[in-house]
Amino acid sequence: MKLKELLAEKRVVITDGATGTWLAEKGELLPGQPPELLNLSNPTAIRKAHQEYLEAGSEIITTNTFGANPFKLARLNLAEKTEEINRRAVLLARETRGDAQALIAGDIGPSGELLAPLGNLSAKELASGYRKVISVLEDSGVDLFLLETFSSIQEAEIIAETISKTSSLPIIVSLTFTLGKRGPRTLMGESPEDAIRISGNSIFGLGTNCGEGGRETITIISALKKETGLPLWAKPNAGRPRILEGKTIFPENPEDAATTAQELAEAGAKFIGGCCGSTPAHIRAIKNRLHNRIK
Ligand SMILES: [Zn+2]
Repeated sequence: MKLKELLAEKRVVITDGATGTWLAEKGELLPGQPPELLNLSNPTAIRKAHQEYLEAGSEIITTNTFGANPFKLARLNLAEKTEEINRRAVLLARETRGDAQALIAGDIGPSGELLAPLGNLSAKELASGYRKVISVLEDSGVDLFLLETFSSIQEAEIIAETISKTSSLPIIVSLTFTLGKRGPRTLMGESPEDAIRISGNSIFGLGTNCGEGGRETITIISALKKETGLPLWAKPNAGRPRILEGKTIFPENPEDAATTAQELAEAGAKFIGGCCGSTPAHIRAIKNRLHNRIK
């Protein structure tokens, strides 16, 4: 099954939910520990996360590689493990998928660095840092690339371009916006209209994840829908996060998430799942709501 074939079925494609917050909730991830390290130190936990999402109905699962780029790993003194962490992550996803139909998205997150002239990182350095990650993910067998939680459209654009130079796999770019008085803006002040710039670079789909809650995600998807005919990707947090007694709480339960998902589908989202605070129970509720509704 290819991504195009999945979409051709004319229904919403169900993706997976959070990895990091879910692992933390299960006690598998200690505070401050990078989730990607578990690919090496606790593969059972990662397999279990994939397994639970597959059983909940995810048609696309995401490799546990969000922070597995050489820039972030260097800050943890793990840069030399970049290749191994990415390779193991894809193997864990593939082992868990087995003969199932689900697709594996190679997850790529931002570098955590500011691009020049605001920061010190040049476009060239950014591209060369990600080149290795991209080739390891593809060689290990991902079905598509997912660039997610980018708050700089420029950074996402450079990485998407780097991928398209060597790979023909589909690329989905998912940006993080916050809603202000002027409408949705990334941290770098870019709007959904600016996001269209990346579409010229033969990306497969465009969307949004993380940031605020489901309400905000619906507004952002509606704004993107006005700008592009590309398939839209939406992974909202399980509600707008708030801090309660020093702990981050995500207020949406699975049925709330299903209601949000229904509205996201009406606003034009073709891929729907969850970001921080979502669990396999949220994905199951979304799947039941959307696929029963469409059938
Ligand atoms: Zn998130």
